[in-house]
Amino acid sequence: MGEELVSRTQVGIVGAGPAGLVLGHLLHREGIDAVVLESRSRDYVERRVRAGVLEQGTVDLLIETGVGERLQREGIVHHGIELRFDGRGHRIPFDELADGRGITIYGQQEVVKDLIAARLDAGLPLLFEAEALGVEGIDGDEPTIRYRYEGRERELRCDVVAGCDGYHGVSREAAPAGALTQYEREYPFAWLGILAEVAPSTEELIYAYHENGFSLHSLRSPSISRLYVQCDAGDELEQWPDERIWQELHTRLARDDGWELEEGPIVERTIAPMRSIVTEPMQHGRLYLAGDAVHIVPATGAKGLNLAVADVRVLAGGLVDWFRSGNERLLELYSATCLRRVWQTQNFSAWMTAMLHRYPDADDYQLRLQRAQLDYVCRSRAAAASLAEQYVGLELAQTKSSV
Ligand SMILES: Cc1cc2nc3c(=O)[nH]c(=O)nc-3n(C[C@H](O)[C@H](O)[C@H](O)COP(=O)(O)OP(=O)(O)OC[C@H]3O[C@@H](n4cnc5c(N)ncnc54)[C@H](O)[C@@H]3O)c2cc1C
Repeated sequence: MGEELVSRTQVGIVGAGPAGLVLGHLLHREGIDAVVLESRSRDYVERRVRAGVLEQGTVDLLIETGVGERLQREGIVHHGIELRFDGRGHRIPFDELADGRGITIYGQQEVVKDLIAARLDAGLPLLFEAEALGVEGIDGDEPTIRYRYEGRERELRCDVVAGCDGYHGVSREAAPAGALTQYEREYPFAWLGILAEVAPSTEELIYAYHENGFSLHSLRSPSISRLYVQCDAGDELEQWPDERIWQELHTRLARDDGWELEEGPIVERTIAPMRSIVTEPMQHGRLYLAGDAVHIVPATGAKGLNLAVADVRVLAGGLVDWFRSGNERLLELYSATCLRRVWQTQNFSAWMTAMLHRYPDADDYQLRLQRAQLDYVCRSRAAAASLAEQYVGLELAQTKSSV
């Protein structure tokens, strides 16, 4: 298909993040045509540092569908995390508590690179620097994406539009006023995240609660550490010179037994707001929304990417059924099916966030409740098992809709 001539497809996908790329990949395997439009350049999306924790279900899907070869080679499998507070570490052993399931550390940008390579190698349409300007006609049989590409405005006519364009995308706006309801919560803090060129000082992720605020020691590879500190919601990067970042990390991650955090050059830094958002329903007419376009979770539960992949897995199933047999039943249930998992994940992410962060207005009563919660998770096998099964990712059977 010549890029100049893109004008009609079965599924028009807005956004080449994890949601859009996985959807395009799953549809291709089933012989369904799709065009992916991405507003940014290939270089930009392949370098965008974000998530890094993949649930077992996400990993299995990528491997089973033939895009997990590098993931299997380079991904680092973890079977537990550490909760750290009061100078002591407490391991939550996923292998014992979650039927042997674990998580894999593999950067989101690596997942994105693998999916882009697979799509382009197969000669499938994926246009970079193609910005969707709007989606029209979603109540009819041929919704249209208006987009700008190579300086010209164009139209892509589709049977169905998949809005996978993230929180700042335009697809959601295509639904008529009042059709969608948004539920949201802003948190009074944010995460300052860094990538540092230094071997991780830990083999497993450390989630640390401290009176100065939350911090997280994660990793991306044997030589790259990923670290986060809770900061104020309005903080700017200029307020956080390197010395301050390291000082806070040393303080918040300190352990009584002399454990030490190694420092290294900081090669990337961002401040990400913490918020929870769900937009319901996740579909209107011939528009289906997936991933961050329709829900956001605070990063504490490491769920955003995984939820995006879970959405499009359901969507692909519905689309395949519809295109093959005209059966609309699964597509009609798309939103209801996804929202069960979405709300369970919202609950988990909000719970982890509440347990581990320092709230600016917390009084002594609240601080003691928080401490009691941490204590309970570390002492009770049932509480630890609840954390473990949600962290590694609920099985599909646990999130099946009752509708
Ligand atoms: C700092 C940080 C850390 C995180 N850590 C984790 C983690 O550990 N685990 C986890 O699971 N999740 C994590 N997340 C969340 C995760 O990164 C997101 O949930 C994930 O990117 C969602 O994927 P998506 O495809 O829905 O959206 P996105 O990745 O946002 O992709 C949307 C795409 O659409 C494109 N787009 C937008 N508007 C348009 C337009 N008009 N036209 C065309 N294209 C458009 C964008 O450029 C983008 O490429 C983290 C997020 C951040 C910010």
